[in-house]
Amino acid sequence: MSHSLFFLILGVCCYIIDSMKILPGIRFRSVQVLKKSYISLLAILALMAALVSSASAAGSSVAVAPAGSGQGSGSSSAGSTQAKKTYVICIDPGHQLKGNNQKEPIGPGASEKKPKVSSGTLGVATKKPEYVLNLEISLKLKKELEKRGYKVVMTREKHNVNLSNKDRSDIANKAKADLFIRIHADGDTSPKTEGFSVLYPAQGNKYTKAIYAKSKLASEDIQQEMKSATKAKSKGVVPRSDLTGFNWSKVPVTLVEVGFMTSPSEDKRLSTSAYQDKLTAGIAGGVDKYFHK
Ligand SMILES: [Zn+2]
Repeated sequence: MSHSLFFLILGVCCYIIDSMKILPGIRFRSVQVLKKSYISLLAILALMAALVSSASAAGSSVAVAPAGSGQGSGSSSAGSTQAKKTYVICIDPGHQLKGNNQKEPIGPGASEKKPKVSSGTLGVATKKPEYVLNLEISLKLKKELEKRGYKVVMTREKHNVNLSNKDRSDIANKAKADLFIRIHADGDTSPKTEGFSVLYPAQGNKYTKAIYAKSKLASEDIQQEMKSATKAKSKGVVPRSDLTGFNWSKVPVTLVEVGFMTSPSEDKRLSTSAYQDKLTAGIAGGVDKYFHK
């Protein structure tokens, strides 16, 4: 606005000087010209004011939207004219400091029970437990998604928690997440087995009928974008009906197995910041694709 103010003051001064007939003998030519073009000046002023205000409005909406959503204010990000929906993503970093072998039903009304949460795998080269890697990647993913304007809810942000797989789904359900992303790493008996995969609730599973289609679509989008971001080997998308964390979910759910910690080379790669950036960019790209952003 400082430019507009400058021109306004300049215009007004010229008009006053001229109307007071100061320096009558000389009658500055420049003053005359400015007076004649006073209307044009006003027009330029109005245009500049409009430009400045629209530019500042656009700047503030870009800056405010991700920050607001990141703090969980629930406010919608500012669109051009209409307010857009802020999508809620729940991220679950798999496992925790200590596994919990107490049992819980594998789904609503199920008599079959499974341990609440297992202890996960271990990096053969890094000696890093899976729950540590899962949280590292999940926190990076949180940052990346918030940067892209999503509201992120975490099931855990530290290792010393006691959350069963059902508890984790409950958090996503309670948050009414538009997508529930579970982050895990794989293990195998062979050190040669490598690659990432994306799991989704199987079609025939009675517990996940309502979320099957959307979950599969999100998993496919994430798998494709991860593939192009990482160029890593991929086992594709894999249907599962045995996961408690899927069966209790009322919101679309996907589980990313980022790679094998039992492969020395992949284990080391998974712990590098550069590869974690590729992984999270791929997952976030898939989320964008799923929501048509
Ligand atoms: Zn796991």
